[in-house]
Amino acid sequence: MTNTNVCEIILNGISASPGICIGKAYLVDKEGVNVVEKYSIAETDIQDEINRFKTAVKNTKNDLGKIIENATEELRRHAYIFETHMVLLNDKMLYGKTIDTIKKERINAEWALKKVVSVVKSMFRNMTDPYLRERSADIVHVSDRIIRNLVGTEIVNIAEIDKRVILVAHDLSPAETSQIQLEKIKGFVTDRGGKSSHTSIIARTLEIPAVLGLDDATGIIKNDDLIIVDGTSGVVIIHPTEQTLVKFHRRKARYEEYTAVITRESHLQAETPDGFHMEVMGNIELPEEVVSVIDHGGDGIGLYRTEFQYLSCPGFPSEHELFDKYKDVVEVMAPKPVTIRTLDINGNKTVANALDSDEINPVLGLRAIRYCLKNPDIFKIQLRAILRAAAFGNVRILFPMISSYDEVLETKKILNEAADSLDKEGAVFNRDIEIGIMIEVPSAVIIADILAESVDFFSIGTNDLIQYSLAIDRGNKEVAYLYHPLHPAIIRMVKHVTDVARDKGIKAFMCGEMAGDLIHIPILLGLEMDELSMNPQSIPSVKSMIRSLKVKDTRLFIKDVLKQNRAMDVMKLIQDTYGSILSEKVYNE
Ligand code: PEP
Ligand code: MG
Repeated sequence: MTNTNVCEIILNGISASPGICIGKAYLVDKEGVNVVEKYSIAETDIQDEINRFKTAVKNTKNDLGKIIENATEELRRHAYIFETHMVLLNDKMLYGKTIDTIKKERINAEWALKKVVSVVKSMFRNMTDPYLRERSADIVHVSDRIIRNLVGTEIVNIAEIDKRVILVAHDLSPAETSQIQLEKIKGFVTDRGGKSSHTSIIARTLEIPAVLGLDDATGIIKNDDLIIVDGTSGVVIIHPTEQTLVKFHRRKARYEEYTAVITRESHLQAETPDGFHMEVMGNIELPEEVVSVIDHGGDGIGLYRTEFQYLSCPGFPSEHELFDKYKDVVEVMAPKPVTIRTLDINGNKTVANALDSDEINPVLGLRAIRYCLKNPDIFKIQLRAILRAAAFGNVRILFPMISSYDEVLETKKILNEAADSLDKEGAVFNRDIEIGIMIEVPSAVIIADILAESVDFFSIGTNDLIQYSLAIDRGNKEVAYLYHPLHPAIIRMVKHVTDVARDKGIKAFMCGEMAGDLIHIPILLGLEMDELSMNPQSIPSVKSMIRSLKVKDTRLFIKDVLKQNRAMDVMKLIQDTYGSILSEKVYNE
């Protein structure tokens, strides 16, 4: 029953995992971690303090070990997440530096750890890549666990919650999330967290509705409050009115019906009723995510971001380590294509070197292909690994952040040298692979005709293209309201690139977030893009959307789109023309 004395409150957060749930709130108590005190340690007690820290780390390892052991088959696919946490426990920066800080500053272990974590956290936060930036959450989750072991506070045992509730927490670590019993917990919301956090990856795997990044949900929601969590639109409603309740119960039922249908149909081709075929691919960051692309009916991997392996080891990974991972992905997907994007980091983004960064504006600095061309030895190791993996399936190579023709020539020269060196050694490899470039810098759009002469495909990276053309830092909340894929400048750029690709007889793909949002599909279809790549969970609905549109209608639709002056006008046009299909597919109404 709704409480008629209190008003309905709506909170907006980040949609981390789609679906709707309605139920009573259960606040997860995280007391203990935030009330750490600082105190001095006598010289003679320092070794005891270090031992206390070591024991807490050991206990934390045991806890995580048990969680991995008890994880369901489904979650074991994401074992890398927990393994990352295990690695962090041994990490020199976290482990070694805390012990150094206890010794040097003669302070208690909890405080020393907090101090070290705040330095490491800010290092991660300065990274340009949002995925890597969010890894700071992993460090906080690991250190929170150690601190709870140090101060002796109970670790929340999510597995023991014995009511049908919705969890409300300041933050949930991936390990805690993985303990959720689906027959008990209906969904969860948190103050912290973002879309590419490991917690949201786990939530999507469990297919449990989740809204993260609400800032102060734990301050506003009380235990037993009736709440609605709409993970699809990132909204949480507290004390819903009867009317809202009825609306969401209906929406929930439709959503469940709809997902059952599109999941059943996800292995069908994405072909319009008038015969236009589009490939719908998955983006992955970790080799393990390949399973999710297959499960969601992906036609291949349109973007394999390769940064993670460079982040997770202290130096640079060896050719062998890279080859092993690439080969796994390529073999699992074969004969479907795997598009491996070469390293897209600035050199200082590896953990070992990150603290030494002295670039004032790294997003405009020695990033991606620029870094690789300046460091051909590091680059060649990756290129050799990719060419070797290409012997085991269908590989395409993709170069990020190209802004000039010279870069393409230089890159291809180094790729040839890498192939020649493998040839000389008599290695098993394949040099006959498609070569593509990311179109994510405005200069690349403008000289697309020149670039097209030297490559087999373009892949439009709208995440950066929007950032660089609209001059909006993609990670800056203050200007997020200006970040719009439907800005007429972006639509014109995408059209120009696709037109040039068609004229020059090469393929046009899109792998930025724009490709995975149903609202954009009429435009991308009307432009007749060859392939769209997105997070694996979006594949079934995008395929289903393509199957419900006629390409000949969307071609005409583009003419109207190009007459619009503002992003909001384009949005309105989409709503007016395709509103009914979208409400059915996005909101299931
Ligand atoms: C992009 O910029 O759109 C893209 C896909 O690359 P990333 O998000 O990895 O920068
Ligand atoms: Mg990019």
